[in-house]
Order: sequence, then C-alpha cells, then structure tokens
Amino acid sequence: PGMMWERCAELLEAQGSPTVFGQPVQQIYHHNGRVTAIKALNRRGEATEITGREFISTMPLRELIFSLSPAPPDKVLQAAHNLRYRDYLTVVLVIDRENVFPDNWIYIHTPEVKLGRIQNYKNWSAAMVPDTSKTALGLEYFLWEQDAEWKWPDERLIETGIRECVQIGLIRPGEVLDGTVVRMKKAYPVYDNYYHRSLAIIRRYLEQFSNLQTIGRNGLHRYNNQDHSMMTGVYAARNIFGETNDVWSVNIEQEYHEESRPESSASGERLVPMRPRDHAPEPQHTFDEIVEEAYAGQVVEELFARLDTLAMGIAVGTVSGLICAIGILLLFYHPANMPELSGLTRETLGLDPDWVKIVIGITGASGAGFLLGSSMSLVRNCLIKFYLGFTRKRVEASQTQAL
Ligand SMILES: Cc1cc2nc3c(=O)[nH]c(=O)nc-3n(C[C@H](O)[C@H](O)[C@H](O)COP(=O)(O)OP(=O)(O)OC[C@H]3O[C@@H](n4cnc5c(N)ncnc54)[C@H](O)[C@@H]3O)c2cc1C
Repeated sequence: PGMMWERCAELLEAQGSPTVFGQPVQQIYHHNGRVTAIKALNRRGEATEITGREFISTMPLRELIFSLSPAPPDKVLQAAHNLRYRDYLTVVLVIDRENVFPDNWIYIHTPEVKLGRIQNYKNWSAAMVPDTSKTALGLEYFLWEQDAEWKWPDERLIETGIRECVQIGLIRPGEVLDGTVVRMKKAYPVYDNYYHRSLAIIRRYLEQFSNLQTIGRNGLHRYNNQDHSMMTGVYAARNIFGETNDVWSVNIEQEYHEESRPESSASGERLVPMRPRDHAPEPQHTFDEIVEEAYAGQVVEELFARLDTLAMGIAVGTVSGLICAIGILLLFYHPANMPELSGLTRETLGLDPDWVKIVIGITGASGAGFLLGSSMSLVRNCLIKFYLGFTRKRVEASQTQAL
C-alpha cells in the first residue's frame, strides 16, 4: 500500500517536481475568480507562500472553505460548517503468534466491547508487517473527536484493546508484545440529512474559480475508495490539459460511465472507476434559491426538535396533579370559597374530606394531564414531521436538478 505513490513521487522528483510533505495549508488567496497563492507552514513552523497556475485540493471541504482569503459569503461558510466528519482510531497490537485468524478483517458486533472492526494486516499483504512469525492486529474504534475515548492516553487505549480482544476470545492475556495508537481525524465524510444541501452550496461557490479543483474523498465529501479518489485526480489533471471532465460525477450511485459493464455490477464484483460526465447539466435554479430553500428546512428542523411524548405526558400530568392538590388544600382551608357542586362532582374532584377520595381526585387530574401532554406532543411531532418531509422533498428535487 502506498508503494505505487512512493514510486510516483520518485519519478516526479527525478523530473524536477519534488513532493513536499508536512506543510499544512493554512490560507488560500484568491482574486477575480482565480487562486493566486497558498500559505503553508513549513516544518519549522514558518509561514511560506507558494504560488502556482493550477491548484488541486484534497483538503476536507470544510477546511478548504475556511482557508479561503477573502472569506466566502456567510451562507457558504455556514454550509461548510455543517459538513460533518466521523473520526477513527486504530489500536495496533503485535501478537506473539503466527496465526490469530485467517481473515484479512472481521467486524465485531457484540455490544460488550467498543471496538468495531479488526484488521489483520498480514493477511492483506505480507509486506505490511516486518516479521511474519508475529501477527499485527489493527483494532478499529469509530468515534467522534469529542468522545472521551479520543482523548484517552495511548496506554489506556492499548489496555482497553488487549482487554477487549481477550474478552471476545481472540487472544490470551500475555500474548501481546507491543502496541501503538494511530488517530485519524475526518476519516469518514458524514452523509446526514443536510450534507447534500451544504455540498450544493459549496460546489456552486467553488465553480467560480477557474484554476481550483477539489478531488478525492474529503475533497468532494464523497465516500470514495482509493480507486475513485485516484480517478478524480486523473480527471483533474486531464482538465488542466484542456479536457472538461466533471470530477463530481465520479462514483455517483456506483455507476460507471467509462464503459457499460452491467455484468460486473450484477456479479457483485467490486466496481471500478468510471469516466465522468463531460459536462454537468446547467442548473435550473439560481444560487440564492438553493441557499434559501436549504436553510428554510434546516432552521425549522433545528428549532423544532422532536418532543418526547412520554416525558411531555409525565410533565403535564405532574403539574396537573400538583395544581389539583394545591386547589383542594386551599378550598379545605377556606370552605367559604367552596363552589356549589353536586355530591358526585365534588367526589370526582377530590373535594370531599375523605383521604381516599382526595387521592382519587389528584390521580385523576394527573392522568388527564398525562393524556393531554402526550397527545399534544404527538400531534405536534406529526405536524412538524410532515412539514419537514415536504420541505426536504422540495429541496432535494431542486438540488437533483441543479447537480
Ligand atoms: C479506515 C479506512 C479504511 C479504508 N480502507 C480502504 C480500502 O480497503 N480500500 C480502498 O480503496 N479505500 C479504503 N479507504 C478509503 C481511502 O483511504 C480513501 O478513499 C483515500 O485515501 C482518499 O484519498 P484522498 O487523496 O482523497 O485523501 P487522503 O488519502 O486522505 O489524502 C488527503 C491528503 O491531503 C492532505 N491534506 C489535508 N488537509 C491538508 C492541508 N490543510 N494542507 C496540506 N495537506 C492537507 C493530507 O495530509 C493527505 O495527504 C479506507 C479509509 C478508511 C478511513
């Protein structure tokens, strides 16, 4: 893995184009629809400015948008802010055993452990381990950066990994020779209810740049594998030489445009990259229309979160019971205020000086309150859901046309 690209870097270097590593891009300067330069930090932490004619970015879209100088309009920034990423860490354990299991990876579904998948690197390729008499396992934890585990010290994560592997019967205690932890931020672009809308806004904004292309997995916020990611790079490079490929259409709905190969999808084989559409259809909606629609749905959804029917019923029921109890208490202390009521009504309302009847009255008020609260929240949830579903369909229809 990676060997092809190491060779590629060697060939480029031999031609006078060295690949520069470890220089995070911090700022992207632009003027009149063209990127003019980037500011990166070199290994000594000093800012360096790099100019160029053409720019291709694999930065996560959210970072790219926030690096642009001058900054994009607020709505584009908001759309970038809304893109989410799932993070991931691997606890690598070196096991003093030649064969632990025959698969290259296994998924772990038991809820008793936190780990989600185990890689057995050697079974992908013997070249991935230095000593094939041992087994290197990669225990994968799918997390958010905000999760407590993300900040755990490496030692604690390694201990947890060993304990969980013992717990599921994979290894024996004492078999582990060494361990290390690799944290990978933004490993997975998240497909949530909003990403499509946010992406449409960002994409439309980036289209104004004539010499900036975004490619790859996080560069397109698309769940691409390596082959698709590389393909977007190939097409971006060809675009610089005059072709007009739409890199955004690589890996859409897992169809392949380069050649029609229905037999390969039918056979369930792994799919391979495709030729993108030469031109995306011209959008039918203005930029502003898409933005407004997107935000209408989103704001409503955030403002009107779903109400918990049970909690609402209990809350209204408790308040009703309390009000009833206080009312009864006040009327007993001031019997002059007691309204003229029939015996049955007084009994139902707990206004007879009899403890059992009082308790029945308060319970009745609580029950009625519970029914009122839960049914009100149920009706409200249904109305909001209906409205949001309707709005989402409209937005998605307009974006499908625009994309
Ligand atoms: C756990 C896991 C398992 C996977 N398994 C497979 C698999 O089995 N097969 C497969 O085909 N694919 C697999 N993938 C997907 C594969 O890793 C990606 O599709 C591929 O790496 C995407 O390539 P890319 O160039 O878009 O992104 P990356 O490989 O992430 O490269 C992006 C580059 O941009 C650089 N960069 C980002 N921000 C900046 C910045 N501000 N300044 C400078 N540089 C920056 C990064 O340093 C990095 O070098 C897996 C992914 C994960 C997370």
